[in-house]
Amino acid sequence: MDLSKLTIESAHKLLTGGEISAVELTSHYLAQIDSKNKELNAFLSVRAEKALVEAKEADVKIKNDQAGYLTGIPLGVKDNILVKDDICTAGSKILENYKAAYNATVIERLKREGAVILGKTNLDEFAMGSSTENSAYGPTKNPHNVSRVPGGSSGGSAAAVAADMCLGALGTDTGGSIRQPAGFCGVVGLKPTYGAVSRFGAVALGSSLDQIGPIAKTVKDAALIYETISGHDPLDSTTVPSRERALNNIDEINISDLKIGWPKEYFNTDGLDSEVKNTVMKAINWFESQGAEVKEISLPHTRYSLATYYIIQPAECSANLARYDGIRYGQRSESDNLLSLYTQSRGKFLGSEVQRRIMTGTYTLSAGYYEAYYTQAQRIRALIKQDFVNVFEEVDVIMAPVSPDVAFKLGEKTSDPLKMYAADIFTVTANLAGVCGLTLNCGKINKLPVGLQILGPWFGENLLFKIGEFYEQDAP
Ligand code: GLN
Repeated sequence: MDLSKLTIESAHKLLTGGEISAVELTSHYLAQIDSKNKELNAFLSVRAEKALVEAKEADVKIKNDQAGYLTGIPLGVKDNILVKDDICTAGSKILENYKAAYNATVIERLKREGAVILGKTNLDEFAMGSSTENSAYGPTKNPHNVSRVPGGSSGGSAAAVAADMCLGALGTDTGGSIRQPAGFCGVVGLKPTYGAVSRFGAVALGSSLDQIGPIAKTVKDAALIYETISGHDPLDSTTVPSRERALNNIDEINISDLKIGWPKEYFNTDGLDSEVKNTVMKAINWFESQGAEVKEISLPHTRYSLATYYIIQPAECSANLARYDGIRYGQRSESDNLLSLYTQSRGKFLGSEVQRRIMTGTYTLSAGYYEAYYTQAQRIRALIKQDFVNVFEEVDVIMAPVSPDVAFKLGEKTSDPLKMYAADIFTVTANLAGVCGLTLNCGKINKLPVGLQILGPWFGENLLFKIGEFYEQDAP
């Protein structure tokens, strides 16, 4: 049986049809990881024995006719999401030996459904970065071209799915970390609306921006994972009950009912590669050729978004990372007094990008600068959000590139943090506004995938899935 083209949907059919067992399927993916991970470094840890036990349990469920869509499906999990009793490094040396004491809510939900967790995937340290090169455990490589980055920070998850080392994976998106790597690796990624998926048990980066979401081979597969992990959670007070969120009558929508906007600020920016621009425009034009109404729109505060994000995110991260003090968590650098124990532990075990953000965040939150930076950024954030409120009165969804260019070369931007930050220009606004966004592949340039980003209104995930499926199934 050829397993190389499997999706979650088709694997589910094979499993429930009795054509393959969950143990066989899991063994297949463990072998895939074994043969590919040395080169790609997509997985930081593999839990082969535990995965096979989970697969056995899934086989019992399937036999008893209790299978859900994800029962027996082998998945990867970004290593900043807690899986009980497994090491969770968050890509950092400071958590090298940290064993999770409990499951994240998303993991509880996957387990309840009978999914199989193969292992933990690589990421930029504490999810700060856009290339996975900030991982303390070495970069992940892009399976389309190993001299290129897979994107980040969920680069391990995106590369693992693209290289068929698992059928789907979880990532986190604080400023693009699901959508951009999905684009660079030619797979599908969803950043859910803020409040759609519980953040309980995810290592916090920017708590007002973070969301966990799926990376998968198809839109349908991403939707299946999203369905399982989303919904209200008493352990995360920002989550919203599912039933109140659903948009009605999605199934009756046709392409010709759609109004699609393309933001002029995104397409007329200097940094956007012209071939990426043309490829994304071609995809948008396809929707128009199928009867959708396509129009230029404006998100006027876009030009402030990077500056706003890179104030708010480091501010939140400096507060969230205060807990890694060498006392309660992770590694400790011994010292003869408390203050130097803190500074030595943090200085020794946190990487340079993490230290940079803690410093900028602490600076913008300090007395005297708080008003000028943090408060001002919050005001602009409100304007950016209002841009989306206004635009979603005019159009159903927004289409744009996910990144100004295709996957860049390893090492190309590591020496210049500003260059790395600039690559986030099309993704951070969605997190500042809290809206949902889906990335899917819309072509290739020099054999490197180009991502189409579709942004939807708050809790418009089902609309994104529907539109994504139109494109995936029918576009040339
Ligand atoms: N690249 C962005 C950053 O470094 C986004 C990170 C993320 O979404 N986790 O902040």
